[in-house]
Amino acid sequence: MGASEETKRVDIAVVGAGPAGLTAALYARRAGKSVAVFEALVPGGQIVNTPDIENYPGTGRVSGFDFADRLRTQAEEAGAEIVYERVAAVRAVPGGGGWEIATDSGTRRARAVVLATGARTRPLGVEGEERLVGRGISYCATCDGAFYRGKDVAVVGGGNTALEDAAYLAGVVRKVYLVHRRHEFRGDAATAERLRAAPNVEFVLGSTVKRLAGEARLEGVEVEETATGARRVLEVSGLFVAVGRVPETGAFTGLVALSPDGSVAAGEDCVAGPPGLFVAGDVRAKAVRQLVTAAADGAVAATAAVQYLQALPPA
Ligand code: NAP
Repeated sequence: MGASEETKRVDIAVVGAGPAGLTAALYARRAGKSVAVFEALVPGGQIVNTPDIENYPGTGRVSGFDFADRLRTQAEEAGAEIVYERVAAVRAVPGGGGWEIATDSGTRRARAVVLATGARTRPLGVEGEERLVGRGISYCATCDGAFYRGKDVAVVGGGNTALEDAAYLAGVVRKVYLVHRRHEFRGDAATAERLRAAPNVEFVLGSTVKRLAGEARLEGVEVEETATGARRVLEVSGLFVAVGRVPETGAFTGLVALSPDGSVAAGEDCVAGPPGLFVAGDVRAKAVRQLVTAAADGAVAATAAVQYLQALPPA
């Protein structure tokens, strides 16, 4: 970021280029506002790791990567600038001067900010997990599944991520054990039914992971059936952890109120609290975290930000 850019102020800064952030950018640009979208990794957020999106209205079946790429292209063609820098902090400029976005490379100012930082994967919390990451433990089936072609793996979790990971891996590996701590899935019944019918998927329900076997590489996973206390070792070379996500709020700690689950406590109006601060997508407290609700949040947050700017006295 050059010196002139440091002082250049955009109307709306969007933190995070996932579906919520890119949709916010698209809406804000279409309302004629200047927009900078900050992204530490690749545009698309969590959706890039989804092999097939089957529940976004109107698109038909599409890969998460393709969807993200189309959305990025659409936002850029609308005139949004994507800044490939990690945001370290969002701060209010004293005296009502808007907001400052501090990245690893410099600072930018904005009159309004949409926080759309999403969520990161939650670790399982079993001893040895950290040591074995990349050596049998993975948090991304589409990224790492191919390394386990012809082998046996386990997936742990009972939400949509676990179910979709298991479905994807069933088409790649020899056998998938789906380990879930309850007997009912949190994820879609349709995907669970499809898995039930798959010849190479075994459900290990009402069970938790107790031990990871292997020093240099994962060699097995010991699971315990909660009701009976019976233990069994699944001889797998891969464990895909899909036990939920943790909202990414590190860059704006203290700025906004958080819910007990760590997400930003904001309602469907996407108003984050401090004037000019809006929040969209998985980082916001909500009951339904889906691609379609992330996109909807992006539209709502951008519209609210535009209305906020329109109500400000001329600079
Ligand atoms: P999630 O829905 O929060 O599910 C997490 C799962 O992990 C739950 O089944 C939970 O068990 C289990 N779990 C949590 N902590 C655990 C632990 N320490 N040990 C063992 N199991 C544990 O998370 P997600 O599947 O990542 O999905 C996140 C959000 O994204 C959801 O809203 C989901 O619907 C959405 N999503 C949607 C799609 C889609 O629509 N295609 C795809 C992926 C994700 P309990 O059920 O017992 O709590």
